[in-house]
Amino acid sequence: MKFENSLKYAQSLDAQDVLSKYRSEFNFPKVNGKQVIYFTGNSLGLQPKRAVEYVNEVMKDWAELAVEGHFYADKPWWDYHERFSEPLSKIVGAKPIEVTVMNTLTVNLHLLMATFYRPTVKKFKILCEEKAFPSDQYLIQTQVKFHGLDPKETIVEVKRRPGEHNFRTEDILSKIEEVGDELALVLIGGLNYYTGQVLDMKNITKKAHDYQAYVGWDLAHAAGNIELKLHEWGADFAAWCSYKYMNSGPGNASGCFIHEKHHNNKDLVRLGGWWGHNKERRFLMEPEYEPIAGAHGWQISNLPILSLAPYLASVEMFEEVGMEKLIAKRDLITSYLEFILKEIASEVGGDFEIITPENPKERASQLSVLLHGEGRALFDYLMKEGVIVDWREPNVIRLAPVPFYTSFEDMYHFGQILKKYLQK
Ligand SMILES: *Cc1c(COP(=O)(O)O)cnc(C)c1O
Repeated sequence: MKFENSLKYAQSLDAQDVLSKYRSEFNFPKVNGKQVIYFTGNSLGLQPKRAVEYVNEVMKDWAELAVEGHFYADKPWWDYHERFSEPLSKIVGAKPIEVTVMNTLTVNLHLLMATFYRPTVKKFKILCEEKAFPSDQYLIQTQVKFHGLDPKETIVEVKRRPGEHNFRTEDILSKIEEVGDELALVLIGGLNYYTGQVLDMKNITKKAHDYQAYVGWDLAHAAGNIELKLHEWGADFAAWCSYKYMNSGPGNASGCFIHEKHHNNKDLVRLGGWWGHNKERRFLMEPEYEPIAGAHGWQISNLPILSLAPYLASVEMFEEVGMEKLIAKRDLITSYLEFILKEIASEVGGDFEIITPENPKERASQLSVLLHGEGRALFDYLMKEGVIVDWREPNVIRLAPVPFYTSFEDMYHFGQILKKYLQK
């Protein structure tokens, strides 16, 4: 595609965009009275207007029905979470019985590790990526210590090659081979939060299974952003937060995937609670724990319905649009942003480098820009100009155009604002 760096051209792309009508379904913050250019949907997605309705509905049911809302609300609370199974299963490429919503992301990874990380003397190592998202590092370190093991001898990190910004699949695969039968678990971010690199989840899963290791994916930046085929790839488990690309609201509930092949395995340990117990017999308060067949069988507590309400509104928007259209726009708008960045650099110079892979198959909506000069000053300038970007130490700005609500015109205006700064 031959792009042009002009307002007219950007507007023509918006005119052809089948998702353009969704932009007005989101609330945008303002800076100096002007709607911002929002690049941080990978950190906290914008508020869908429908979310407000969904929350109000629960507030109303609570006021009018109180405890009776569990069974008699329009959307009864006792099985409210089941409404997510169908739409979420399409987002992550799973069967509806393999997904559920509960807790928050890191908490879910801990719970899933309780099931899938059962180290023995011979099989105990965990493979992860170097410089993983801090929460994942703390998760793995503390799990290892919980089992009385030494993190230094137990955690194996895949590294980037010197001078390179991204992981090579062959290096991950050969690391798995190297650890071999001692490998108990692979737990990696499927889409790297720092660089925006998408990993080859299919082949990494396959290779780890050659050594009878379990494979779990942290999909914080992947869910609602890339095509996932968790069932087909045979991933053992996965979890994601819903407040990034899934637009569910700050700190909101996580989603999890547990592959069908594990649902009836009674030898797998799980940490139980009454919401994971046989639904028909839940209120009989029997002493014998009988987990539900399927991912809901990993539930513990009755669910925070006020949190699930905006998440449900968002998931239904995904259902309405479908991942295919979101991905098509994602690729186009990300390439357009890349083009704009390169145009500006060639017009006025700019001491920066895009460290996200160039190959559209290895990236999604995020471009990470490494600033070689005084990066922090550019960040402060952009924020002041109403361009909301994300700063990551030591010197990376992350830009994530979100197909639901970012316009091509936003990309053009961003380019002009950036150019003004670089010309100085
Ligand atoms: C955003 C993110 C988290 C956040 O975890 P919470 O438990 O929701 O606070 C964890 N891991 C990765 C890779 C992330 O990108």
